Amino acid sequence: MSAAIKRTSHWIGGQIVASASGQFGTIWNPATGEGQGQVDFASTADVDAAVAAAKAAYPEWRATALSRRAEILFRFRELVDANRQAIAQLVSLEHGKTVADAMGEVARGLENIEFACGIPNLLKGGYSEQASRGVDVYQIRQPLGVVAGITPFNFPAMVPMWMFPNAIGCGNTFVLKPSEKDPSVSLLLAELLKKAGLPDGVFNVIQGDRVAVERLLEHPDIKAISFVGSTPIARSIYEAGTRNGKRVQALGGAKNHMLVLPDADLNMAADAAVSAAFGSAGERCMAISIVVAIDSVADPLIAAIQERMAAIQIGPGQTPGMDMGPLITKVHRDKVASYLADPEGATVVVDGREHPAAQGEGFFLGTSLMDHVKPGMRCYDDEIFGPVLGIVRVQTYQGALAIINANPYANGTAIFTRDGGVARQFQFDVEVGMVGINVPIPVPVSYYSFGGWKGSLFGDLHMYGPEGVQFYTRGKVVTSRWPDPATSSVNLGFPQSR
Ligand code: NAD
Repeated sequence: MSAAIKRTSHWIGGQIVASASGQFGTIWNPATGEGQGQVDFASTADVDAAVAAAKAAYPEWRATALSRRAEILFRFRELVDANRQAIAQLVSLEHGKTVADAMGEVARGLENIEFACGIPNLLKGGYSEQASRGVDVYQIRQPLGVVAGITPFNFPAMVPMWMFPNAIGCGNTFVLKPSEKDPSVSLLLAELLKKAGLPDGVFNVIQGDRVAVERLLEHPDIKAISFVGSTPIARSIYEAGTRNGKRVQALGGAKNHMLVLPDADLNMAADAAVSAAFGSAGERCMAISIVVAIDSVADPLIAAIQERMAAIQIGPGQTPGMDMGPLITKVHRDKVASYLADPEGATVVVDGREHPAAQGEGFFLGTSLMDHVKPGMRCYDDEIFGPVLGIVRVQTYQGALAIINANPYANGTAIFTRDGGVARQFQFDVEVGMVGINVPIPVPVSYYSFGGWKGSLFGDLHMYGPEGVQFYTRGKVVTSRWPDPATSSVNLGFPQSR
């Protein structure tokens, strides 16, 4: 590491605050395998300071006019738009994904800000005039208070933007705990929010590891937690958070299947499988990691996939022309490679360990393909979260459906077919939260909500969109009557509306 070590600290009360904990982690450059900076790890006291800043800012922010909140979000939207390149470069530098891929992440984040700009409309309640004689009933939605977001390494810009634009638009104040692996973009977003006119303390960032998370989970002033990460952590966050009386939405891992029927356009299916399996080196919760092929099309489909894999350019994400960058850490790269070393009866068709890019110091692995994958093998049962695509061969649609529905994850899935009736039946039958019909990565647009089923989501409400607004607010119903002496009398009976 060079003498001038980049240090990424917390953002509390509108400014960068260094940690007093003395604990820190290394920010790696995944393309070179070298350290490129340090990230502070918060102590309990650091977390308490961020929560206190958010709590102090809450009463005034909650009372701020909706039009003013929307104005700040509009300005933030303009600033993120103007800084797309800078954000994408920083994401690429610490995460490793290509700059083009990071630009896509920023674009999807922007859409979530745009949705939140409509907050005055989104918070409209219902009103029933004359629910009883002279009595009106109406519902309002109010913010919760201080809410926290805990985010994964794989979308360091977009996933926080799934959360905080809606949360602060609704009138909450926010504490973000980003991934310690690529933490710096959180500070850039904080600076842009300040520039947009967001009052100090409304948005705070706490860097760190499980110490920070555990304090957020037990802090009495945190009212709700949005989490995105792996399934074991999501489950434990949900259990601990709800035990402590908090509202929790905890999105977990995934194993997304793409079903290819014999009538599908095989070229289109192969393009989609390769794009969705190897984009961002497979480190996407909506990546396709299993292609379920009806046996009669498996061989030509594999040939088409292999042909496309050979053309993928692998190298540093910041080098123009690269399609795929490195994995996030050496430990993770080695874990992904272990599935190729021990295929447990599956056939390794393309072994990414042999790719020239995988021979250097960076955390690279080539694109990999495994055939004859079956449930019960580690490479099927685990979320690999790397550039390894597995092929499961089945004889029938029913056989494919049974496999997909038996999987404990249920984030996304896709069907490739020209038959509208079968596609509609799949949509009806499949027990997965997000479904693509000839669309391999069906991430909902910002005005729908994002979330899987089963082991991919713990909690009741999906993230962003209308369910995000619901998550960050609670309903209050007001029954009102204005004094009218002409209708007033003593009546001890239970109030009735007719
Ligand atoms: P992770 O679960 O390791 O970490 C997520 C967050 O939890 C990070 O902020 C991390 O610091 C924190 N954390 C890690 N270990 C912890 C512990 N023991 N106690 C408390 N907090 C802890 O996930 P990751 O490796 O950063 O991200 C990849 C995972 O996220 C994959 O499983 C992927 O599928 C999932 N993911 C899911 C979605 C979705 O929408 N469902 C989206 C993106 C990523």
